[in-house]
Amino acid sequence: MLIVMKFGGTSVGNTQALSKVVEIVGKYREQGDDIVVVVSAMNGVTNLLLAAAHKAEEGDEKQAQQARLEISKKHAEATLHFLEKSIERKAAMTEINRLLDEFEALCHGIRVLGELTPRALDVIGSLGERMNVPQVTAILNKAGISAQGVVATELIVTDNRFGSAVPLIEATEEKTENKLRPLLKAGKVIVVTGFIGATEHGITTTLGRGGSDYSATILGRALKADEVYIWTDVNGVMTSDPRVVAEAHPIAHLSYAEISELSFFGAKVLHSQAIRPARRDNIPVRILNTFMPDHPGTLITAESQENGKAVKAVTAIKNMSLVTVEGPGMIGISGVAGRTFTAVARTETNVLMISQASSEQSICFVAPTADVPKVVESLEDELSREIERRDLEHIKWEDDTVILAVVGSGMKGQPGVSGRLFGALGREEINVIAIAQGSSEFNISLVVAQGDADRAVRSIHQEFQLEKP
Ligand code: ADP
Ligand code: ASP
Ligand code: MG
Repeated sequence: MLIVMKFGGTSVGNTQALSKVVEIVGKYREQGDDIVVVVSAMNGVTNLLLAAAHKAEEGDEKQAQQARLEISKKHAEATLHFLEKSIERKAAMTEINRLLDEFEALCHGIRVLGELTPRALDVIGSLGERMNVPQVTAILNKAGISAQGVVATELIVTDNRFGSAVPLIEATEEKTENKLRPLLKAGKVIVVTGFIGATEHGITTTLGRGGSDYSATILGRALKADEVYIWTDVNGVMTSDPRVVAEAHPIAHLSYAEISELSFFGAKVLHSQAIRPARRDNIPVRILNTFMPDHPGTLITAESQENGKAVKAVTAIKNMSLVTVEGPGMIGISGVAGRTFTAVARTETNVLMISQASSEQSICFVAPTADVPKVVESLEDELSREIERRDLEHIKWEDDTVILAVVGSGMKGQPGVSGRLFGALGREEINVIAIAQGSSEFNISLVVAQGDADRAVRSIHQEFQLEKP
């Protein structure tokens, strides 16, 4: 079998975790599988890099020096543990230090210019994965697993939307096949940087926070892999965020449709776009625990398997705003919905939920709070005449809201699910601000105030008895 396996930040975060990685890769290798390993940066490194870049823009370079020390220490400890004072360690640390020099030089430039562009931010963000590849490659080689590192800028071609670049499938397939197939044929375990790609002109991009999951499925699809494994720090996709619901437990099976709703609406365990490449070619994806590798985790395939429950999981996505375009003259204005969303689209903002009351007096939608200023500006611009004529009142928005998504293929055609859902929230005296049900009937989404979110999630979890296996 050809397996693309991705190890997340905690799974490569220290010597104990890295020992597990060696064990896991070794085991599949012994079974005769071909393996592409996708690695994240060591736990916390990406945050350190990005925070230092932002500080540099504000005129503070010290944070970059501090971050360098911290990052360097993490790698020095890990390499010392596995490689001792060998030539291999020296080579890995030389490369890591070279990248850290680059990091400091970039932060210096940003401080001097007083400007941090999205493009520069992606270069800096990419460094954590770039540092980890030589480290993991050397550790595997030392353990007798013949490995070779590759930087994904040579494989994954993307557009130039820095910070959340979109892969260009054909170019990626061609590059990946040409570069990786010969290495696989030569019996190498290939170690690839997660999270990053490059434009057609070779400019580094990133796939969005948590993007190493996406890298794994992109490469899985490009290589026509048999399976993609996402090794992380929990026993699979759980009925809810385990940090919010203590009783949450892993779900044995999910369909592509179900996981795409869950990851889109905030289940951090998988990047929101990551299932798409796998889904297109029907590649099974497993979410597995690096620290409990014998646990079966979650298997994700095309079919939905009923587990006797209408609802399988509930998630929340925070820091959202509800934007409302409203006015007495709305009914008369032709194409106002179209113009509203065209204006939003111009800002490249991700709209997560839309609802329109049947009175047609208002349209409201939910978008990330960080994007709201540019969205409102674009709307006021587009609808300025209607606002002047008072056909539209000013555009309003409400911050500190959360979208909850209640997901499960068993909800389809089953009456009473919404009744129970709203009943549970009512008993908790939680005010529901807006509601939407996708036509898939796999998902009911609702908006509540951020302060109510955790309580709402727990009450829904309890109402649908998700704590029971
Ligand atoms: P990695 O570094 O391996 O990519 P992440 O931190 O990105 O790991 O994602 C795993 C984390 O996602 C878990 O530790 C858990 O706290 C969180 N999480 C949130 N929602 C869920 C969920 N529904 N199922 C499993 N984990 C979840
Ligand atoms: N290191 C990147 C991040 O922290 C990508 C990832 O971990 O998947 O967002
Ligand atoms: Mg992640």
